[in-house]
Amino acid sequence: RFSRKFRENSSLAKVLIVFTVSGGGIVAFSDAKPEDRLNVVNPSEADDKDKKKRVVVLGTGWAGTSFLKNLKNPSYDVQVISPRNFFAFTPLLPSVTVGTVEARSIVEPIRNIVRKKNVNVHYWEAECFRIDAENKKVYCRSNLAGDPNQTEEIVVDYDYLVVATGARANTFNIPGVAENCHFLKEIEDAQRIRRTIVDCFERASLPNLSDEERRKILHFVVVGGGPTGVEFAAELHDYVNEDLVKLYPKVKEAVKITLLEATDHILNMFDKRITAFAEEKFQRDGINLKTGAMVVKVTDKEISTKQVKNGGEISTMPYGMVVWSTGIGTRPVIMDFMKQVGQGSRRVLATDEWLRVERSDSIYALGDCATINQRRVMEDIWAIFQKADKDNSGTLTVKEFQEVLADICERYPQVELYLKNKQMSSLVDLLKDPNRDSAKESVEVNLEEFKAALSQVDSQMKNLPATAQVAAQQGSYLADCFNRMEQCEVNPEGPLRFRGEGRHRFRPFRYRHLGQFAPLGGEQTAAQLPGDWVSIGHSTQWLWYSVYASKLVSWRTRALVVTDWTRRFIFGRDSSGI
Ligand code: FAD
Repeated sequence: RFSRKFRENSSLAKVLIVFTVSGGGIVAFSDAKPEDRLNVVNPSEADDKDKKKRVVVLGTGWAGTSFLKNLKNPSYDVQVISPRNFFAFTPLLPSVTVGTVEARSIVEPIRNIVRKKNVNVHYWEAECFRIDAENKKVYCRSNLAGDPNQTEEIVVDYDYLVVATGARANTFNIPGVAENCHFLKEIEDAQRIRRTIVDCFERASLPNLSDEERRKILHFVVVGGGPTGVEFAAELHDYVNEDLVKLYPKVKEAVKITLLEATDHILNMFDKRITAFAEEKFQRDGINLKTGAMVVKVTDKEISTKQVKNGGEISTMPYGMVVWSTGIGTRPVIMDFMKQVGQGSRRVLATDEWLRVERSDSIYALGDCATINQRRVMEDIWAIFQKADKDNSGTLTVKEFQEVLADICERYPQVELYLKNKQMSSLVDLLKDPNRDSAKESVEVNLEEFKAALSQVDSQMKNLPATAQVAAQQGSYLADCFNRMEQCEVNPEGPLRFRGEGRHRFRPFRYRHLGQFAPLGGEQTAAQLPGDWVSIGHSTQWLWYSVYASKLVSWRTRALVVTDWTRRFIFGRDSSGI
């Protein structure tokens, strides 16, 4: 039918490919004008379209996949759009760079993940380049012709949009970084690093090279002392010392690994004991650790750093390979969207505690591409108090205070924790005591003092970290909301709304921190578990093996990764770089 229309209608002559997709509402065109655009609906699904709300999910990373895995409500038509047709288990990416684990062992095709679901899920390999919040459409680019220079556009309508596009590596606009450094974000990055390491060793082994040239080629620089940079440096050190030196004995002495960190210490977000252990271990291992060194420029041969303290002295060193791991930045599609929704001046896309993008009720954003707006949270708490203080006297009855506090603590458990930590627990207990019939009792609440206390809570309620843990929990929280959408519409379970009437449909998202690992090489790992419990050493490495094996997305990847670990124990790592 479409091919006939295509031939008959000259205005459609530019349309190259049209999907007649089940689920419909998707259009593909190449350089078609806006008026040529079609909204294609598969006739067999046309009835369903009326019934089913369409949920479009952007991204197949931690957040998107967790949402898809946990979505059970069959009353949605789900369209997944991502340039990557697989989920990648990023915590094992550093292991892929040195061949401890193979790349294919840590990826699972998204079609495998959604295959057995009772929910209608369709996947499109495309990259979203524009979100049109006003008309509820997303504009995507796909490489239908198989030629990267020839892309087609797809327009997809949505009722709900789940934005889970993650983040990109942040170069901080430092000259030469984008052109000359390796990043460690995607599977392809890890494979490229693996090839480059072996390539450096092969080049350094060629005859007619001076010692200086050899040292330059075998100088590996890692920028960023966060968990990823530290883990990569440790993996590289093990790879070189356990496997490569046996194969390239002549160049062994020329190898050098440098880790650059702009602040005073590596692993800043960890307990001081872990930082100290890691720094000492790296020193023992001969890893050249340079703290307080900020990279200012990278050329194809040299990397320049500026000493943050001591007069800002600039020094330059030649290198063979640089791996850049300094944090994350916002993707262009998200920056464009932020401007549309009046968040152009923000650094990150802001959501409320229900993960809804502010000012766009049908759009949710989760994972690394967004953050819950804590400032708004504090404003909300303050507004609740002000509202309760009707006569503006700064005095509330115990009962009034109890109600307000109960509401706030339900929404923001951090506030209760803070008050308890500040030895205000007796006040909290008193105010929350349900047996007190204290409508007439008055308690002096100095609201200014309380506001000052709140601002301290504010500084403690930092943005959630950009981790897989947060992304996965947000994905499953949102899926749970979608699963119970109809129920909660009738019986809302969230806290009272202070702007508007009634209760919120859902409870707000709450993050449960389960701890964090920092693998340090030599079969040693550091772990910081809830309650600031710290464990470092070989036994923690076994904990790391078991936790990561259990977290892998499927039994297939679990089996492959465990096999890779066993193979490495028996035969060592593969050094072909393939
Ligand atoms: P991602 O997982 O990055 O997924 C983003 C998805 O969006 C991808 O599928 C991508 O292809 C897709 N996408 C991108 N652009 C578009 C677009 N324009 N349109 C549509 N789709 C798009 N966290 C931990 O908790 N523990 C760890 O040990 C850990 N180790 C890490 C090691 C490394 C090397 C790295 C890089 C990260 C690590 N992290 C770890 C962090 C963790 O990987 C991220 O926080 C997590 O991936 C964020 O999930 P996400 O779904 O937001 O983004």
